Amino acid sequence: MRRGRGGLSGHGARVQLGRAHSPKVASMIFLTPGPVQTRPETRAAMAIDIAPWDRDFGPEYAAIRERVRDIAGGVEGVHATLPLQGAGHFLVEAAIRTFVPPGGRILVPSNGTYADRMMRLAREAGREPVALPVPDTRGVRAEEVAAALEADPGISHVCMVYSETGSGIVNDPAAVGAAVRAAGRRLILDAVSAFGALPFDLKAQPECDAVLFTSNKCLEGMPGIGFAVCPMDRARGQAGQAGSWCFDLGDVLKHAERQGWGSFRFTPPVQALHAFAVALDLYAAEGGQAARLARYAENMRVLRAGAEALGLVPYLDAEHQGPIILTLHQPETPGFTLQGFVEALKRRGVLISNFFTTQSPTIRIGCIGAVTPDDMQVALRAMGEALEELGAARKAA
Ligand SMILES: *Cc1c(COP(=O)(O)O)cnc(C)c1O
Repeated sequence: MRRGRGGLSGHGARVQLGRAHSPKVASMIFLTPGPVQTRPETRAAMAIDIAPWDRDFGPEYAAIRERVRDIAGGVEGVHATLPLQGAGHFLVEAAIRTFVPPGGRILVPSNGTYADRMMRLAREAGREPVALPVPDTRGVRAEEVAAALEADPGISHVCMVYSETGSGIVNDPAAVGAAVRAAGRRLILDAVSAFGALPFDLKAQPECDAVLFTSNKCLEGMPGIGFAVCPMDRARGQAGQAGSWCFDLGDVLKHAERQGWGSFRFTPPVQALHAFAVALDLYAAEGGQAARLARYAENMRVLRAGAEALGLVPYLDAEHQGPIILTLHQPETPGFTLQGFVEALKRRGVLISNFFTTQSPTIRIGCIGAVTPDDMQVALRAMGEALEELGAARKAA
């Protein structure tokens, strides 16, 4: 396997987690659910010029496609990785445009902000989303999906978010996929904040047209490129129906089959791809999906218990808490503002999101990226001090 340029030879399985650059704080822990904290080797790989069509780079890109397909549980000759420049939303839009015919109806289990976004992407692409309302405090149940599909034979696809990054709940693609398969429909899975950590096995889910994710969440690469892993016969048959050359995954496949798996239709974020190869090396060295899930789950366990000890109340019951993001109710003390809390944390070297998307006001803290349980302890100390500073400290009983 090609390792690429940029001096990758020095790293091993035990790698120190370097801190992100911030203009004000030399060493900052990112607890944001995307873009995530990355490792120094990954960031360093960006610092070179590369021509994407250069004969040296093609094999590296082709290898990335194969490695990503394998992580998705795809099979050589059956499934293909279809990358697209840009953010995760671009992939979601592309999958909807590619696999759902114009005017077609999709069912969206609606239990968070990313489900709402899927519906908007579909609507603006001229497809008709049908919401399946579910509280944003639990996953959708397979029976609920089965009933909704039975009630509406015109729905061709279920478009579901795996891990709702707004709240922290996790939907179950294996269970929901089985219901979709039984109903003879198709599945499009937004796995952007789950892929690489939560399990997914494409070969066991033949109803799945596309599993979607990006370089910069649980795979801990730099942002800039997203991926759809799709059954090739499905993608091939759909070329041309997207109504957009840029967003046509069928055309991405056609191009690869004509020009080679190392070729691009349009200029890619080539440094982000080069860095992504390093991130994939580090992923494999850590132990792949199981090891990454174990680290994130431990991050979550430490963070959730510590936040409760500080008197903060989780938005989700423990049984519905996924390992990706912890959402906490904002304290109701008068001194507390989210922006004030974020700034107080930032002065202590911890960066979290300064917005929330739940029904009631929350604080969201990511457990993903190149961060460890030790970082969670640092963050908890900072959170305790920040609450004191804002006059919002309240020790748990
Ligand atoms: C991060 C994320 C996306 C994509 O976000 P972009 O900003 O477009 O990269 C999509 N879905 C989910 C569930 C996400 O967490």
